[in-house]
Amino acid sequence: MARLELAGLELAVLIVSHAAREPTLAPVPSSRTPHLTAKLQGFGTTIFAEMSALATATGSVNLGQGFPDSDGPREVLDAAIAAINGGLNQYPPGPGMPVLRQAIVAHQQRFYGLQYDPDSEVLVTAGATEALAGALLGLLDTGDEVVVLEPMFDSYAPCIAMAGAVAKPVTIRPPSYTFDPDELRAAITPKTKLILFNSPHNPTGRVFSRDEVQCIADLAIEHDLLVLTDEVYEHLVFDGLEHVALAALPGMRERTLVISSGGKTFSTTGWKIGWLCGPAPLVTAVRTAKQFLTYVNGGPFQPAVALGLGLSDEFFSGLAADLQAKRDRLMPGLIEAGFTVFPTQSTYFVTVDIRPLQPDGDGMDFCRHLPHRCGVVAIPTEVLYMNKHEGRHIVRFAFCKQLDVLDEAVRRLKTLG
Ligand code: PMP
Ligand code: GLN
Repeated sequence: MARLELAGLELAVLIVSHAAREPTLAPVPSSRTPHLTAKLQGFGTTIFAEMSALATATGSVNLGQGFPDSDGPREVLDAAIAAINGGLNQYPPGPGMPVLRQAIVAHQQRFYGLQYDPDSEVLVTAGATEALAGALLGLLDTGDEVVVLEPMFDSYAPCIAMAGAVAKPVTIRPPSYTFDPDELRAAITPKTKLILFNSPHNPTGRVFSRDEVQCIADLAIEHDLLVLTDEVYEHLVFDGLEHVALAALPGMRERTLVISSGGKTFSTTGWKIGWLCGPAPLVTAVRTAKQFLTYVNGGPFQPAVALGLGLSDEFFSGLAADLQAKRDRLMPGLIEAGFTVFPTQSTYFVTVDIRPLQPDGDGMDFCRHLPHRCGVVAIPTEVLYMNKHEGRHIVRFAFCKQLDVLDEAVRRLKTLG
């Protein structure tokens, strides 16, 4: 460990001091980055880049950024290789390859009973990240408000800001991580244009119940709002729970854009093949923005993801079972290491309260020192909140790693106590 720390010392010091100037993803008025547009002041460097660099520099076990350490289905990988060898190496069509759009339509029908037209109601994007950016840039005007649960995925707030719009966060708190319907209602104003809803939820691992999803749908209908649903973890749901697709609830299809991605489902986070489905006028609005962001991406990966979306039920249930076993391996270890561990029902992630181990509850400080103290990297969730104090003491660990890697992380974390 000491050797690894030594090897990474110089770089680690650089990263920490750089990060100290730009500490969080939400606006911090006191630190100004030269040249950067006012809209993005305070957003700093994404925590995932900072923490993965720290993991590399210190040789730590990286339970920070959420990516698996094993490959997904062989046939999906082979399909991409075959596509490259078969010459599918030029720009795909703007809305995405027909084979993938057809597969997305079939997937939405198969899992949620939702019907879409592959030509006018589906758009392939550079990951869910670009689907989110394209939707927010294509749908929002200056001053529009977006109601969103916090903690929230790190690209939401900066993309809303780039659109000139305003995020209105509603905090969900552990251990239940449910939302208060009255708080949600209170966040809606005459300026609210849309609700951005992520379930299964990163970083908490919540799978919102049918009643909770219905509550959001009811508010959207009552206030005539659009809804963007971020469902990238749709197939990573544990304990026999159900992922409720909000667009499938009565009256919601026509006001909802569904966003997902192949990254988590096929363990191909580096391929960045995402998509969005919804009524044609909404998809057209998003496509207008999206075509000037990347235009298109990932040609040979598109048919591969199409193949993956058609895999057997056993593949999808096996994926969830594998991750559930990993969750069940890491969680007891985190408890033994001394954290207060909150339940997680889905995703790659589990959240903990660090205060039993760090009484001042400074999660940012904890995560920046953890690699040097014991060779493990985690994510301070404070950066995923606009109300920073709500998440200050909460840290996220990823369990999408092989069992021996999780065991080694636990062994190291137990030396903290
Ligand atoms: N939304 C959520 C909730 C996520 O956790 C992620 C991270 N992968 C994304 C969107 C972005 O997905 P992609 O990698 O497909 O761009
Ligand atoms: N979704 C992953 C996470 O939350 C990584 C996202 C990213 O690096 N942009 O860790």
